[in-house]
Amino acid sequence: MGQKQVAFEKTKHQQEGLTFSDISPKWAKRLGEHQELPVPMSITWLRWWLEIINPPNCVVGEAHNFSRSYTDDCRECGKIGDKFTVYFTLNLCSKIEENKQRFVNHWNKEHAQFHSR
Ligand SMILES: [Zn+2]
Repeated sequence: MGQKQVAFEKTKHQQEGLTFSDISPKWAKRLGEHQELPVPMSITWLRWWLEIINPPNCVVGEAHNFSRSYTDDCRECGKIGDKFTVYFTLNLCSKIEENKQRFVNHWNKEHAQFHSR
């Protein structure tokens, strides 16, 4: 693939925007579409819950390379992270879906240009 082609592919990708699996692949597998959440209080649920309440390991933390810097740097990411925690804890699948969308939109608008993966 020539350099021009690479540049073209990159531009195309940016225009279309990143998807949830591009931004947080590990969590996207867990919270992907048609994915049932684990039964509350089950072992898997508890394991995910312990990660989701921990800023560097939560859905938003993964997107920030498992760092908690966003809790100081980006209010919107902080808010979205809190919402994931609440919705997961209460097992609100449709709210998680909404929040994923909000996160993907926000990421593409504010953070996508700094994202290299
Ligand atoms: Zn942000």
